[in-house]
Amino acid sequence: MLWKTTEYAAWGNVHKAKGEIARPERAATLAKILEEAPAPAFGNRRSYGDSPLNDGGRAIDMTRMDKIIAFDPATGIVEVEAGVTLADLVRLFAPKGWIPAVVPGTGFATIGGAIANDVHGKNHHVEGSFGAHVLAVTLMSGGKRVTATPERNKTLFRATLGGIGQTGVILSARLQMKPTPGPAMRVSERRIMSWEDQIEALEASTATYAVSWIDVQAKGATMGRGILEEAELTDAPLPAPSKAKSVPVAIGLFSNSLFARAFNEGYFRRVPEAGRNSVKRLEEFFFPLDKVHAMNKLYGKGGFHQFQCVVPSDQTEALGRMMGKIARSGLGSPLAVLKRMGPGRAGMLSFPMEGYTLAVDFPNRARAVKLIEELEAMTAEAGGRLYLAKDSLAPGETIKGMYPEWQDWAREAAKADPGGDLMTNMVRRLGLRQSGEGAAQ
Ligand SMILES: Cc1cc2nc3c(=O)[nH]c(=O)nc-3n(C[C@H](O)[C@H](O)[C@H](O)COP(=O)(O)OP(=O)(O)OC[C@H]3O[C@@H](n4cnc5c(N)ncnc54)[C@H](O)[C@@H]3O)c2cc1C
Repeated sequence: MLWKTTEYAAWGNVHKAKGEIARPERAATLAKILEEAPAPAFGNRRSYGDSPLNDGGRAIDMTRMDKIIAFDPATGIVEVEAGVTLADLVRLFAPKGWIPAVVPGTGFATIGGAIANDVHGKNHHVEGSFGAHVLAVTLMSGGKRVTATPERNKTLFRATLGGIGQTGVILSARLQMKPTPGPAMRVSERRIMSWEDQIEALEASTATYAVSWIDVQAKGATMGRGILEEAELTDAPLPAPSKAKSVPVAIGLFSNSLFARAFNEGYFRRVPEAGRNSVKRLEEFFFPLDKVHAMNKLYGKGGFHQFQCVVPSDQTEALGRMMGKIARSGLGSPLAVLKRMGPGRAGMLSFPMEGYTLAVDFPNRARAVKLIEELEAMTAEAGGRLYLAKDSLAPGETIKGMYPEWQDWAREAAKADPGGDLMTNMVRRLGLRQSGEGAAQ
């Protein structure tokens, strides 16, 4: 296998890594690599922080392992290699009447990455996390091929879903997709005038898909205003695709607060006061940010952080205080969303909990880092948790305190990978495998 020394980063472009990367195309090649020198895997590095990085060590890029192994059109069960992307599944199967039951906000996420972070979508309050629809996962773990399901190798299954790649390299998975009447979404958008109204509207929403964009620059009585988007799958005729845009250089527009303020005002007003209904192509509804290629360059060369927390349903007041702090700081970028979450989570380190999740991007600056630290402490105090797919700053003790099953997870990871060969920068930074009986040191 050809190893190529490469400098690479994840989506936030803050943490960087340098090391040898292999890009196997077949399971047999992957098995050979892992036999010689086990190393952590990554997908499309759409995680923001340091979870897909292994600075100074080897790593395996899984994106060439992208074959559809089997599909049953009667049940919607599909078996795929780990490098298949969620956009691939939508594109290939929506015309046949099936879509992945859960997709995150980017179609570039691979099946391996979606499992390893147990990702959630705009339908979490109704359909739970990605892992709730995984029927089986096959790993290369401890030199063997192992299949885990919710019934067989149960503990390994629960340690793998949301387990940030520490129980083995995910080779393939069997997924239950959900039926769709057509490849489109009927979407209704309306303005929401304040933070309290946002929470009330999400609470009252009966839509399968619901998400609120927040104008994080709005202060005072309009603090937390935004646009609520509610949607259902439909067989309505498809509109023409809109054109993709790209960001040619790292121009840093989103790091400029004047630009962010003007952008937010325009974005808020794009939906008329009376609201509007439309039909959107599935990709445009699910993956709106993918239309702007390399949009992470909008934060400039210094990169950016995303703060994402979830707090229990009775802690919306604490979340409101966080929102107020963000609004007063003027540091938040136009990318801020609020979602209601249901209880569905599939693994020991899965992020979701019943409540509300807030995600806000911040340019990588000292003031923003300080603000994020304060928001992390407020999340902990509210009994909430931070999302490992987005984290690049939190202290290990904070994260451990938020994930009550982390020691069970660490024990299972140590069983699967006793030498600690699969550890990544994130796992080392947070010391996630440094405690727990038998965990790799
Ligand atoms: C614009 C945007 C919107 C997003 N919206 C959402 C959202 O709505 N909801 C949500 O939950 N997330 C969201 N995310 C985060 C994203 O869905 C997750 O970070 C996802 O895990 C990325 O998948 P990936 O294939 O790029 O994985 P990577 O980022 O490459 O890797 C993620 C983790 O998985 C591990 N891993 C990857 N492949 C394998 C494998 N084959 N075997 C073992 N371990 C593996 C890596 O080691 C790492 O720990 C968003 C990200 C972006 C950029």
